[in-house]
Amino acid sequence: MNTAPRRIPHWIGGKPWDGASARSGDVHDPATGRVTGRVDLADESTVDEAVAVAREAFAQWRDSSLARRTTVLFGFRELLDARKDELAAIVTAEHGKVLSDAGGEVQRALEAAEFACGIPHLLKGGFSENASTGVDVYSLRQPLGVVGVISPFNFPAMVPLWFVPNAIACGNAVVLKPSEKDPSAANFIAALFAEAGLPDGVLNVVHGDKPAVDRLLAHPDVKAVSFVGSTPVARYVYETGTRHGKRVQALGGAKNHMVVLPDADLDLAADAAVSAGFGSAGERCMAISVVVAVDPVGDELTSKIVSRVERLRVGDGRRPGCEMGPLVTAAHRDRVRSYLDAGVAEGASLVVDGRLHAVDGAAEGFWLGPTLFDHVGTDMSLYRDEIFGPVLSVLRAASYDEALDVVNANPYGNGTAVFTNDGGAARRFQHEVEVGMVGVNVPIPVPVSYYSFGGWKDSLFGDSHAYGPDGVHFFTRTKVVTGRWLDPSHGGVNLGFPRNA
Ligand code: NAD
Repeated sequence: MNTAPRRIPHWIGGKPWDGASARSGDVHDPATGRVTGRVDLADESTVDEAVAVAREAFAQWRDSSLARRTTVLFGFRELLDARKDELAAIVTAEHGKVLSDAGGEVQRALEAAEFACGIPHLLKGGFSENASTGVDVYSLRQPLGVVGVISPFNFPAMVPLWFVPNAIACGNAVVLKPSEKDPSAANFIAALFAEAGLPDGVLNVVHGDKPAVDRLLAHPDVKAVSFVGSTPVARYVYETGTRHGKRVQALGGAKNHMVVLPDADLDLAADAAVSAGFGSAGERCMAISVVVAVDPVGDELTSKIVSRVERLRVGDGRRPGCEMGPLVTAAHRDRVRSYLDAGVAEGASLVVDGRLHAVDGAAEGFWLGPTLFDHVGTDMSLYRDEIFGPVLSVLRAASYDEALDVVNANPYGNGTAVFTNDGGAARRFQHEVEVGMVGVNVPIPVPVSYYSFGGWKDSLFGDSHAYGPDGVHFFTRTKVVTGRWLDPSHGGVNLGFPRNA
C-alpha cells in the first residue's frame, strides 16, 4: 500500500495549527522504511505564537480551582486508558518498538498521569500557628507560568507524560516540543487533554528541531524547561536555559551496567540481561548495555546469554511474536552498526553478530539484529560511547570491588543493577554505587510514578529529578507568608531584626 505521507501539524490553542510551515521533516515507519508523515518544523515565530497563546491561557488556568484541575486530569486519565491501544499503535508506527513494548510505555505514562490526579494533596503547604505570639507562618506552592518540555524519540508517549500532567496540575501552561522523529503521539495526547476539558492554550505542541529548542531556551516568557535527550544536548540545554534565567532540568544519556556476582542465579541474570539489553532494540535510557561478570561466572553467563539472544525474534512490531523491532532511522541504524566493526578492531570478541540475524519484516526496514560482545575493555569506544542500540557488552571483573570501580568510574550514572542472592552484598552495592537508580535483581529500575526519576553525573544536569515529588517541586515555586492580624498591642517602631517571642 502506497499512501501519501500525511501532514503532522503543530497543536496550538487547542487545535491543529493551520498555518504554512516553511520547513518540514520526514517521519518514517521504521519497519518498512516508508515516509508516512511530514512534520511541520517550527521557526521562531511559530514558537513565539505558541508561547503567547500559552501565556494568555496561563492567566486563567493558574486561578482554576484544584477541583477543576483534578476533574480535567481524571478525565484525561480515563480517556488515555480507554484509548491506550491506539496510542501504542502510533508509537510502534513511528518508533518501531514492538506493540507489547509500546503498550508498556503507555502504561507507565498512564501511571504518571494518575500521580498528577492527586495534586490537591501534593500542593498542600505547611502551616505554623503562633510561630511568634499572634503570628502565623504558612507556605504556598504557586505555578511558574509557561514551561517548555523537550522530549526524545525513544519514549514519544511516556516522556512527555512524565512532565505534562504535573506541570498542568500545578497550574502552569505548557509548550511541548517532542522529537521530530516520532511526533504523532504528542498530538494524540494534546487532543485527549482537549477532550478532557483542558482549556485551549494550556497545552500546546510545537514540532521542530534545534531552532525551536533554541527559541524556547531564549524566550523571556518561558520560565522553566524540562529536557530529556542525549548528554551533549542536555548539557547545552541546561547551560543555555540557565543563562537565560530559567529553571532547567536536563536528563541526559546513559551507559547502564548490570553487575552479576558469583552467587547470582545465572539463568535469571541471563534472562534479565537479554530483556534489558535488547528490549526496544536497546533504545532505552535505562537499557542495560554492559554486563559486568564477576569471576568466575563470565563464561557460563555469556553462553546462557548467547543461547537466548540467538532465539530472539526480530521483526515488524505489529506482527505477533516479534520481540524486537527496527531502529528508529536508517542513519541511527548505520551508526549503531558501525560499532560492530569498531568493536572487533579494538579487540573485543564478537560473539553474536546482529547483521546475520533473521528478520521478519520488509527488507527496507531499519534492521539490525541483537549483537553480543565479550571481553570488552573500558578503553574501547564500544564501552565508552552510548551506542543506544541492540549491542550488549560483557566485561569481566576479578572481584566485587573491581566491578564497583568500573561502574563508578563511568561518566554516566543513570541506572544500574546488581544480581546476587547475598543481601549484604546488595546492600553494600546500593550504598556505594554512584548511580541515581539502582536495581537489586531488577534490571530496569525505572522508579514508580510516586518516586522520581533521575540519574547522576552526566545523566542529569540540574538538581530536580523528573516526575513524582520532584516534578511537583520543579513546576512550582514556594512562597512563605508570615502574618498577624493587628491589634493595638502590636504598635511601636523597632529597627531590630524580627525575633520570635
Ligand atoms: P537528542 O538529544 O538527539 O534529542 C532530544 C531532543 O532534543 C529532541 O526533541 C531533539 O529535537 C532536540 N535536539 C536534538 N539536537 C539538538 C540540538 N543540537 N540543539 C537543540 N535541540 C536538539 O536525543 P534522542 O536521540 O531523541 O534520544 C535519545 C537520547 O535520549 C539518548 O541519549 C538517551 O539516553 C536519552 N534519554 C535519556 C533519558 C533519561 O531519562 N535520562 C530518557 C530517554 C532518553
